[in-house]
Amino acid sequence: MLDFSFALGVSVAALMLCIVNIIYTFIQGRVDKTQNKIFLIILAILMINSCTGISQALFNPLRMVNDETGMIVKVSRYLYFATHTALCPMFFYYVSSVTGQSLRLTKMRNVIYTIPFVVTEFMALSNPITNWVWTMDENMEFHRNWAEYLIYLAALLYFVSCFITLGSAWAVLAEKRKMALVFFFVLVGVGVLIQLINKNAKVEVLTEVIGFTGVMMSVENEDDRIDFGMGFYNRAALNLDIMGALHNNRKVSLLVIRITNASIVAKQTGTENSGVISDMISDYLKMITKRYYIYVANPGTFVLMLYKSVHPNPEEILETVANRFENTWFYHGQSVPLNAVLMMAELPGQMKDPVSVFYMIDSPLPADTDKKVFRGEDLNYIMRRQDVESAVSRGLKESSFEVYYQPTYFMDKRLHGAEALLRMHDRELGDIYPDEFIPIAEQIGMIDPIDDYVLEEVCRFIKTGLPKKFGMDSINVNLSVMQCMQPGFVKRINGIVERYGVEKRFINFEITESIAASDYRILSSVISSLKQEGFMFSMDDYGTGYSNVSAVFSLNLDVVKIDKSLLWNAEKSELGMIILENTIRMIQQIKKRILVEGVETEAQIELLEKFGVDYLQGFYFSKPIPKSVFIELISREL
Ligand code: C2E
Ligand code: CA
Ligand code: CA
Repeated sequence: MLDFSFALGVSVAALMLCIVNIIYTFIQGRVDKTQNKIFLIILAILMINSCTGISQALFNPLRMVNDETGMIVKVSRYLYFATHTALCPMFFYYVSSVTGQSLRLTKMRNVIYTIPFVVTEFMALSNPITNWVWTMDENMEFHRNWAEYLIYLAALLYFVSCFITLGSAWAVLAEKRKMALVFFFVLVGVGVLIQLINKNAKVEVLTEVIGFTGVMMSVENEDDRIDFGMGFYNRAALNLDIMGALHNNRKVSLLVIRITNASIVAKQTGTENSGVISDMISDYLKMITKRYYIYVANPGTFVLMLYKSVHPNPEEILETVANRFENTWFYHGQSVPLNAVLMMAELPGQMKDPVSVFYMIDSPLPADTDKKVFRGEDLNYIMRRQDVESAVSRGLKESSFEVYYQPTYFMDKRLHGAEALLRMHDRELGDIYPDEFIPIAEQIGMIDPIDDYVLEEVCRFIKTGLPKKFGMDSINVNLSVMQCMQPGFVKRINGIVERYGVEKRFINFEITESIAASDYRILSSVISSLKQEGFMFSMDDYGTGYSNVSAVFSLNLDVVKIDKSLLWNAEKSELGMIILENTIRMIQQIKKRILVEGVETEAQIELLEKFGVDYLQGFYFSKPIPKSVFIELISREL
């Protein structure tokens, strides 16, 4: 049979575990969130319960010895009931807080949820006067009274509410948390059951403490949610918390802070960039909001979850942060210019799911603006980008792509060739232009099949024999530079063209000059191999990039295409004219042929004639047009 020393051992063990838990929680500094505070209250309750367990084990057998021992037994019973009654309600509040459910409740419902707690707690506290919960007779025998069953009923109510809360938040809980909470329920269930079967076992408090140790190790300890470098929450936590906010209908303004010059900061300070930036920024952000509303989504990208209930005026915060970035930051006394772009999106109004949020966080900023703050309508580009991305993804399957042709001419206005330019007709978005969808296709890894499609279309066109019949020299096909650098590129291109059995000299590949200088070696060898096969090569958009001029000219090119902006600027200013003239002269001196794009007027043609360029392309002659229209056009001209 169990004796008092067993009960004593169990209670001492529970007490020690409680103390360890509390010490650990303080060491880790996890005391500031509401959830942390409730957790500590629960531990305090369990600690008191362990102590009363110890005194019961020690003094209950001696309760008849004298008045003092009798009193000790009575007082410890009183303390036990006064605190243990609060345990289930507290656990319910804890679960509500962890799942974010607590903030979902209306004031009214909050009050309703508190009533059983207040009533039962009042009964437990007033017991010395009322004797509603328990009594001790003159033999110091313990008796339960009706109110104790009410306390049990209230506990059951809170327990069931916990289950419902957990169930409804299940999808937005991390795996680890689910496990810990289930573990807790099972353990406590077992403990209560054992004690019900054998009322001397006294294991209930111990199983509760063990269950809470599990909760501490996985729910309170947020290792899986914390970014170790910074101490802020990580991407995974952001994902879950966004889902949680949406699930709980909480209004949130997400403030995204993207440091746009991280690599320059790294160079300037000579250290790992994310470290320096976080050092500078983290203290500042903690002044703006609590640490547990701050997330690091990428190195150099911070996100603040500004809950409406906590921060009713997110605009003010946005303004404050924007102003801060107007001023200098300091790192070890050295000034560091931190550039940031700020974005503020409303949840659930603007962002329907975490995917959209991460889109905003990760996607490139629109190139056509130097805005520093994006909000409201400014963020529409994200929705648009997402739509275009889906359109590109389904484009090949749904054959929404079409190759247009824009003719090119000799100076005497004879047809010279054409450039193949891609168009997209999407069933939802309508016509989309390549300036918009090509960069997106590149980013989502769709550019290879798309460019292959263009090349195949062009091969098919050449195969009809029409280009030859109309005296065309070549058809130009645009290539993405990134794609040229891939291993196996030359083989793939060759494979496609050879499959169609068309003459390779009919195909003139265009690449843009704007690539990093370090890549010229690979690019140069790719061009050489393709040229050896018989293809032609043009440098596109010459004059727009910042590339190394001598490197560009060391490439084995047939034609240099001067960008339309150079032509248009020549008409606008004297300096523009000098640049155009000298660019043309330089290219002529190294004996490359020149095509000028963007020709729209007779006057431009006269100017270019004077400079002696070789080919022209532009709206003066024709816009890019569908193949059938193009064939009509060139047949008419013949
Ligand atoms: P790009 O290669 O520089 O193509 C020339 C662009 O200038 C075309 O725009 C053309 O419509 C436009 N253009 C030509 N003449 C004139 C003119 O006189 N006035 C004006 N205002 N514009 C003129 P588009 O077709 O929208 O193409 C934009 C860019 O998209 C292209 O620039 C090219 O970089 C890319 N692109 C188009 N098709 C493909 C493709 O099949 N593959 C790849 N990788 N990129 C493509
Ligand atoms: Ca081009
Ligand atoms: Ca061009």
